[in-house]
Amino acid sequence: MDEQVKMDWERCVAFHGHVCPGLAIGFVAAQIALKMLPDLGDEPYDSKRGIVSIVQNDACGVDAVQALFSSTFGKGNLMFKDHGKHVFSFIRRQDGHGVRVALKYGAMDNERHQALRVKLMEGAATTAESEEFYKLHEEISIHLLEAPPEEHFEWRKISFELPKGPKLNPTVQCAFCGEGVMEQRARVRDGRIACPECVEKYESRVLVLNK
Ligand SMILES: [Zn+2]
Ligand SMILES: [Zn+2]
Repeated sequence: MDEQVKMDWERCVAFHGHVCPGLAIGFVAAQIALKMLPDLGDEPYDSKRGIVSIVQNDACGVDAVQALFSSTFGKGNLMFKDHGKHVFSFIRRQDGHGVRVALKYGAMDNERHQALRVKLMEGAATTAESEEFYKLHEEISIHLLEAPPEEHFEWRKISFELPKGPKLNPTVQCAFCGEGVMEQRARVRDGRIACPECVEKYESRVLVLNK
């Protein structure tokens, strides 16, 4: 690993709080994107405008993406799709050209690591097994970082239409709790405006009443 990559990895570990294979997945996906970004379109990559990251999971790897690209919900340059897939896309803001990086199926399989994880979660692991788990955990992470990226990942260029300009989100009042809610997210229940939180409560109450 070269010096810059090593420093970046340490920054991600500090942000995330521990070394783990999940963090390494996000880190390597981001490294692939960093290499690709200059060659995605005809214009040179404008790092000032930066990228939008689209993550299809909310696991450890997302923290590497956040730390490396300063992608955050607050800035609108982090989009989460709840797909439960180790897939990360990185889109240049300037022209919508990007790269989609996916972890290969089975790339993370390690039976011993998995068996130890289950034992640990059940509280049934001995001290030796727990030590073995964390050792493997770290070894798998380091292997992910050091192996050629094509061993674990596949990627392709994509184009993505990014929403233009800041979104206008008028706020309306929920008739059930009285709190404000983005109009886009509001629903109607009993002919009245309801926020998603009240919709959830309403639906579960209906479910109970229907029993
Ligand atoms: Zn983690
Ligand atoms: Zn409400």
